Amino acid sequence: MEGGSALIGLFPQHIIDEIRERADIVDVISNYVPLKKAGQSYKALCPFHDEKTPSFNVNAAKQIYRCFGCGKGGNVFTFVMEMEKVTFPQAVEAIADRIGYKIPRSEREIPEEKGAVNKKALYEVNARATKYYSALLREKEGDKALQYLRKRGISESSIELFGLGFAPDAWDFLVNKVKDSKFLETMARIGLAIKRDDAPGYYDRFRNRVMFPIYDTQERVVGFGGRVLDDSEPKYLNSPESPLFSKSRNLYGLNWAKSAIAAADAVAVVEGYTDVIMAHQNGVKNVVATLGTAMTAEHARTLKRHTRNVIVVYDADEAGQKASQRGIDILLEAELEVRVAVLPEGKDPCDFVLAKGGEAFGQVLADAMDFFDYKISAGRKRPGFKTVSGQSDVIDDILRSVGNFTFRNLPKRELLLKKVAEAFGVSEESVRRRLITTSAPARKAAETAASSAPKRRLEDCVIELMLAAPEYIAKVEQAGWAALFADEGRRAIAEEILKMHVDRGSVEVADLMNRLQEPTLSQIIAEIESYISAKIDHEKLYADCARQFQKILDAREVNRRFSQVSRLDKPSESEQVEYLKNIESLLKKGESSN
Ligand SMILES: [Zn+2]
Repeated sequence: MEGGSALIGLFPQHIIDEIRERADIVDVISNYVPLKKAGQSYKALCPFHDEKTPSFNVNAAKQIYRCFGCGKGGNVFTFVMEMEKVTFPQAVEAIADRIGYKIPRSEREIPEEKGAVNKKALYEVNARATKYYSALLREKEGDKALQYLRKRGISESSIELFGLGFAPDAWDFLVNKVKDSKFLETMARIGLAIKRDDAPGYYDRFRNRVMFPIYDTQERVVGFGGRVLDDSEPKYLNSPESPLFSKSRNLYGLNWAKSAIAAADAVAVVEGYTDVIMAHQNGVKNVVATLGTAMTAEHARTLKRHTRNVIVVYDADEAGQKASQRGIDILLEAELEVRVAVLPEGKDPCDFVLAKGGEAFGQVLADAMDFFDYKISAGRKRPGFKTVSGQSDVIDDILRSVGNFTFRNLPKRELLLKKVAEAFGVSEESVRRRLITTSAPARKAAETAASSAPKRRLEDCVIELMLAAPEYIAKVEQAGWAALFADEGRRAIAEEILKMHVDRGSVEVADLMNRLQEPTLSQIIAEIESYISAKIDHEKLYADCARQFQKILDAREVNRRFSQVSRLDKPSESEQVEYLKNIESLLKKGESSN
């Protein structure tokens, strides 16, 4: 996908750092929203979401911003990227222009930085894995996968075009293909292999799965989706977040769909890999899928680069479900035109295309209704609609969607309010008043729900500790905690902090964000920064983290021993007793450290 990070290599790091240091974030942001000084920081109404009291904060000392309402945060570059909908290099240039900094010609044309070279290796690993998986599909071992695909109606040419493959039921299929340890490391980085806990070496992440390579718009494989052939869980497994892949940004099928999207000036969004494949196979090509997640603002932004018209495809019995509703709100907030296509009950697009053909599916898309018309007609069909309170519930529900996105487009809001008033035979004035009461409290409720996350992640506590009290960085490094992070993004953050600490002896948050080159990571950092307070006892925080990590290590040890028992062919009674004792003592240890 054409995210900013792929292009960061256009400028060397020292130029980016210099521009960042010279540009004052308060100056830059106040070009967009009026900032008010409040103590140490500046406040404003958030430009990224609708609010009535300011929760958008700019920290001049640290040169970062964060919104406590919607969670957006980052540095001066991410702010301009978000506001102007531009790539990272474009944001760098825009800010350089604004502060009158001339980027030397020669520096613009350096083709590849270190980061770019690394990415090349990652793409290479994915490309090779794709080849191995698809070759296996044609061998005896892959036959059951091939049969599965054929049974689902996927043609030979689709198997070819979409690069489908098979990962066998083995721990070492992929890792045995490569003997080069550097290559294995890269494989682990991209999430195809996993480092063993209990022994040197790696094992395959994807096992006994039909493999769907996920491409970016430049036809490079950025990740994989794997579907099980039996009943094991999870049914679908995606590549983890990596420098190439993010499920909240990547859309499956966009590479094959982009020219059809341009031609139709519309895109249909479905849920599954096979939905996309069957639609394409039957001639409906402007179709993409989210990768097992709800629609995110980043997806919306990606789509917006291709078209403003989005058709959300519903299965009749999930129509109106809350989850999809949230996705639609995100599309609306991005000022996209949303239409809704409804398939008969119980049919996903793949089933539907199989049964009725591509032309019928094309017709369903062509008949898609404007989202608000759809809401009005679906509301009328609700069982409770005959009663007065049922009707007013329907109106409220629609007004919530109206309120969610039209704050930037008042004429559109007017037109919609008129439409709602006409549809339900009530006065415009009453609808307008109701809008104010429905949207504000609803928004507030959503905000508090999001901000009262029950428990902070251990990983965030470690990052907070390193940022707030740099004297602990060396301790964290020695303890090797970063390697234990389950979340790839947070591991990348921790590792970058350790690296910056060695390279420069200090860690500037705003520079840390640049080095990571990922808006989603900047957001995580900004959030963690917001927790930092002088009141926190760092020694205690460190001790808490240490205790938690010990528990993780103990749990791993228990797992290891369990798997040893299960690996023994016929453990003797005394062996079993011995193992159980061992495990029991470990579990006890875990409890007592609670
Ligand atoms: Zn906000």
